[in-house]
Amino acid sequence: MKAIIFDVDGVIVDVRESYHYAIKETAELFLGREVPLSAVKEIKFSKSINNDWDATYEVIKEFGGEADYDELVERFTEIYNRLKDREKQILPAELFRELKEKEVPLGIVTGRPKEDLEFVLERFGLRDLFDVTVDEDDVGNRDLRKPHPYPLHLCMELLGAEEGVYVGDNNADREMVYYYRKMYGKPVKFVHFKKVVELDIPADFSTESEEKLRSFLLQEACRSQGVERVSLP
Ligand SMILES: [Mg+2]
Repeated sequence: MKAIIFDVDGVIVDVRESYHYAIKETAELFLGREVPLSAVKEIKFSKSINNDWDATYEVIKEFGGEADYDELVERFTEIYNRLKDREKQILPAELFRELKEKEVPLGIVTGRPKEDLEFVLERFGLRDLFDVTVDEDDVGNRDLRKPHPYPLHLCMELLGAEEGVYVGDNNADREMVYYYRKMYGKPVKFVHFKKVVELDIPADFSTESEEKLRSFLLQEACRSQGVERVSLP
């Protein structure tokens, strides 16, 4: 059975006005000076840092400062909570409904903490559309976070999937899929959706168009059904 699994930030939701600014403002709080948004993005994406607390920590370090990690998380959460209403939905519920009609199990693997994932699923009416969600609280151990393949493995296992497609927007997503294939040997395609962040990274399929993404995923969903039909006695 083939599953289709989605990243949240930069794929389902545009977080340029929330998380990216939360990194910037938290770093500025610890550094006591301004940090350009361009530097935040450069550090986060060039270093493939998926978790935004880690990204904030790295920005502070790069600018010559230091921070207590727990305090950083606390400040970051306050700032993010103030900015989170600025997030915009990118992929519509309709796309997920169409895929569900093809009987493809749908999953989420995200670096969001559970509370932030619940917030966004509730806000955009997506809660009932995913069979399994794996967030940062489900992973627990910091060493097992994306780009480690464990979160994807956990999602694939819970979905009972033998093959899959993962839709992500950055290099940490690509690396997670790459390591997953190496460690677990199951075929998972990496789809790079670059509507929000323009990056040049290798992928099995790459597009900035929602319509092209929709066509590709529907094709994958049908192919999955086809394979299953052929294999019946
Ligand atoms: Mg993302």
